[in-house]
Amino acid sequence: MGSGQRIARLMLSGLTNLLYPADGQCPFCGRFVTCLRFPDICLDCRRALLASPGFRNHWQQSGSLRFVGGDRGERTVPLICCGEYEDPLQDLVHRLKYRNKTWLSRPLGALLWRRLLVAGVTEPVVIVPVPLSRARERRRGFNQSALLAAELASRLRRASGIDAVPCHLLMRHRHTRPQVGLPLEKRVLNVVGAFSVHERLAQRLKRAASIGEGPGGTIILLDDVVTTGTTMKECSSVLARAGFERLVAAAVCRLK
Ligand SMILES: [Zn+2]
Repeated sequence: MGSGQRIARLMLSGLTNLLYPADGQCPFCGRFVTCLRFPDICLDCRRALLASPGFRNHWQQSGSLRFVGGDRGERTVPLICCGEYEDPLQDLVHRLKYRNKTWLSRPLGALLWRRLLVAGVTEPVVIVPVPLSRARERRRGFNQSALLAAELASRLRRASGIDAVPCHLLMRHRHTRPQVGLPLEKRVLNVVGAFSVHERLAQRLKRAASIGEGPGGTIILLDDVVTTGTTMKECSSVLARAGFERLVAAAVCRLK
């Protein structure tokens, strides 16, 4: 590694330490977590979370979304969520997105990681975050789904030995209005043509998969929240039309 690279890496790790507080702080109550097996959430908050109906309902069951997959007609993609869009998860997602608490991608990524293991994910995966529009990402300074994708991939690799990489395979060409409250027809029109596949990355992924290098197989399409599901369906459709057949949609929470 050259000295320039070393300095860049040092600066990056310094920045990371600033953004992420010391290990072991519970994101719900702020207390320090002493349990080594579950270092992300304290025992009391974990019990409260597991007991909340919105969390329990989603933890064991997967749903699915129907979408149009090009020539192959209507298809379904499994949808895996940690819980419903209600507190305490809603509060964590809000703090991550709107109050710049980027370190919360760690405990939320850990929840997603455990949820995917429960769902039986063992094969190599490519994790594709749902992109924000460029203007939105510039204003916010980050894409929360990309932070979650990086965290999830790292957990799958380090803790479960599963070949996982985050990949910005999708591009968003325009900002879309929030989907909640729009009638179905407008929701669909709102997202049609908003996304496309990054051609060079797509070719690289397919080539690597065909020669048995790097994770091939399943694509996990990742978002922080699924509201109406229209965005996830459109992204699934774009990926399927580009030849990515094995898709799983995942999100921290889903609006009831
Ligand atoms: Zn706690």
